[in-house]
Amino acid sequence: MEKGKLIIFSAPSGSGKSTIVNYLLGCGLNLAFSISATSRQPRGNEKNGKEYYFLSPDEFRKKIADNEFLEYEEVYKDNFYGTLKSEVERLRDEGKNVVFDIDVAGGVNLKNKFGDEALAVFIMPPSIEALRERLTGRNTDSAETIEKRLAKAEYEISYAPKFDKVILNDDLDTAKAETLEVLTGFLNGK
Ligand code: ADP
Ligand code: 5GP
Repeated sequence: MEKGKLIIFSAPSGSGKSTIVNYLLGCGLNLAFSISATSRQPRGNEKNGKEYYFLSPDEFRKKIADNEFLEYEEVYKDNFYGTLKSEVERLRDEGKNVVFDIDVAGGVNLKNKFGDEALAVFIMPPSIEALRERLTGRNTDSAETIEKRLAKAEYEISYAPKFDKVILNDDLDTAKAETLEVLTGFLNGK
């Protein structure tokens, strides 16, 4: 069986990346989501083994020491996130195309590692103000967490030119359609 390809999504928090990724996962493209490990606390209805593998900081450090990560980053202070080698190997061996929702540094890192086997997509918010409104409207993070995330947005946007494709998520339906088209083209080798 041919090994699956890699599709990487990065964006500032609140851009609509998870919304778009969830839509794509339902489009019948033989995609599977790479569940990352994180040392942050679950929020809202998040379940261990669904959105993330939730680890304690000590468990996370142990996996770093044991070289179990393909990449990892301290995305926010004291909050580690990483892609497990075992997760990606398992899904690719099943012939699945693997979808990643990872931060900009991790995204560029994976793209450099996998080259043409990977497509790196950056989801661009229309403005920082829109990010603030979306994060507030999502109602899952404290005001302090939202400020921490917004403070990083300009830096994250500076990474956009390093990605294969930049999709503006202003009107959600347009962004979904554009992303689907880019993905289909990539998977068909165009
Ligand atoms: P991310 O995964 O990038 O942090 P989410 O997908 O959780 O972002 O989206 C953040 C919030 O913004 C959610 O409440 C989502 O429903 C909303 N949202 C997503 N895309 C749009 C859009 N184009 N216009 C308005 N709201 C949006
Ligand atoms: P959140 O806390 O909103 O779920 O995610 C915060 C940030 O961490 C997002 O930018 C998300 O894409 C990123 N992230 C999630 N998993 C990983 C991972 O495995 N590696 C890296 N580098 N970033 C990740």
